[in-house]
Amino acid sequence: MKATRFYEVGKPITIEDVPEPEVGPTDVLVKISGAGVCHSDLHVIDGEVGVKQKPITLGHENAGIVEKVGSMVTEVVPGDGVAIFGAWGCGVCKLCERQEENLCQNPIYPGVMVDGGWAEKLLVQHPRNLVKLNGLDPVIAAPLTDAALTPYRAVKKVVPKLGPGKRLGIIGVGGLGHMAIQIAKALTPATQLFAIDVSEEKLTMAKELGAHHTIDGKSDDVGAELKALTDGEGLDAVVDFVGNDATLKNAAASAAIGSKIVVVGIAGGTLPYSFWKLPLECEVTSSIWGSRSELKEVLELARLGLITPHIETQPLEAINDVLTRLHEGKVQGRVVLTP
Ligand code: NAD
Ligand code: ZN
Ligand code: ZN
Repeated sequence: MKATRFYEVGKPITIEDVPEPEVGPTDVLVKISGAGVCHSDLHVIDGEVGVKQKPITLGHENAGIVEKVGSMVTEVVPGDGVAIFGAWGCGVCKLCERQEENLCQNPIYPGVMVDGGWAEKLLVQHPRNLVKLNGLDPVIAAPLTDAALTPYRAVKKVVPKLGPGKRLGIIGVGGLGHMAIQIAKALTPATQLFAIDVSEEKLTMAKELGAHHTIDGKSDDVGAELKALTDGEGLDAVVDFVGNDATLKNAAASAAIGSKIVVVGIAGGTLPYSFWKLPLECEVTSSIWGSRSELKEVLELARLGLITPHIETQPLEAINDVLTRLHEGKVQGRVVLTP
């Protein structure tokens, strides 16, 4: 089968013919319909985030059609359309036991620890990692498994701070951020949304998706601009989908007293914290991916038409060009590879 292979930092991804994986008793072989290209893959390719094996097939945002099932699998049958939950946990630790596999310290993420979905087929280690699509297009479902699941969890963390008269800031309107706007509109429709990005095209998209205000992230004082737009009060919650020094500084400068900042972007920035450094009782937390039950909720939002990823489809062969464009901030929404 055809697969992309990542060997080393600085080397282009190759397309190769690799052996089809063997299907063990509890495995499921899925023919990939869509595999999203996430900025986290760029962090891997740039050497900022490590992978467990090399070469490796990247791609942790996948959906497709079940092709073969192991002898003990009864939950799905060949032909089923499935979203692949990617935060595979070890299955036995306390976090996995309480269904928080996305927090597992010994995870087996496809596309990071084992081969992922930028290929014709993906071996899924257990049917519990599949959610049936029940009619949803697998090409649309692929980005829902991360580009929507991750902001869903992050936005849920701040919903208690939001509602009529309250304000949410979304920093970075890329693959995750453009879904965050839609998710916020679905979960807290009366909240005012402020989108911050360095690209005019992304800010136009933010407006089209329903952001009430857009702010140029390149401005000298994003915090002052946001305070001016909010009666000097600032934002009740900020979700940062970049996470570098500049965006964390902007998040802190625009946060209101008693607000909450959620860091999702893994660009490696630092947010200095002390009693007086941030507004009084401002909470700061991170958010990683999502749980299987949260993925089911995200798929339901999509089925109801409340969230729709803006996607551009590309063949596996386009991967290096796609990565270059993602690096330059020139991808609108999400690129989904359709092998
Ligand atoms: P993306 O490249 O699609 O989007 C990033 C957006 O940020 C772009 O629109 C870009 O123009 C904008 N941006 C860049 N610099 C900015 C700045 N200074 N101010 C405002 N906006 C700026 O990336 P993505 O796939 O949406 O991923 C976003 C981040 O989230 C990445 O760091 C990725 O690794 C991370 N991520 C984290 C998790 C998690 O579980 N925490 C999951 C998936 C992705
Ligand atoms: Zn990702
Ligand atoms: Zn675990």
